[in-house]
Amino acid sequence: MSNLRTLRRRMARANRVDTRPVGVAALYQGRLNAYRCPACRGCTVTVDLDAGVTPAMMGCRATDDCEGTAFSLGYPLPEAWPANVPTQPAWEWYRPGERQLTRLRRKDKDGYDHVVRGGLLLRPYGAGRGPAPADDAGEAEPAAETAGDAR
Ligand SMILES: [Zn+2]
Repeated sequence: MSNLRTLRRRMARANRVDTRPVGVAALYQGRLNAYRCPACRGCTVTVDLDAGVTPAMMGCRATDDCEGTAFSLGYPLPEAWPANVPTQPAWEWYRPGERQLTRLRRKDKDGYDHVVRGGLLLRPYGAGRGPAPADDAGEAEPAAETAGDAR
């Protein structure tokens, strides 16, 4: 009965995990990372939309049917970004909203626990920005700013 209240409290707690001042937390948003897969040697490039925790390894997404495990390169700084790795993200890490979190709680307990502990979720790059990202960007809307806007 008080499920929603419990959920809100847990969300608040999860949000409190990030105790850095806004300016500092902002540094962690828009950060690029890449996961290198030893099996296919491909790299999966990701960007953080929100401040939060991302895993050190994940299933390879660089090559369609690769079943390898890809390992984080540890957020290389732009000046140290490996030359052979693209800088265009294909996936984005994000913190789900309350509605999605409620759904997650019902359908994916592990995912839910992960988020409540401050973890971010992964989705295809641009998926959070509404209508399908234009592959053939003919008359696409101007792209959303990639960096967090100053508050
Ligand atoms: Zn792979």
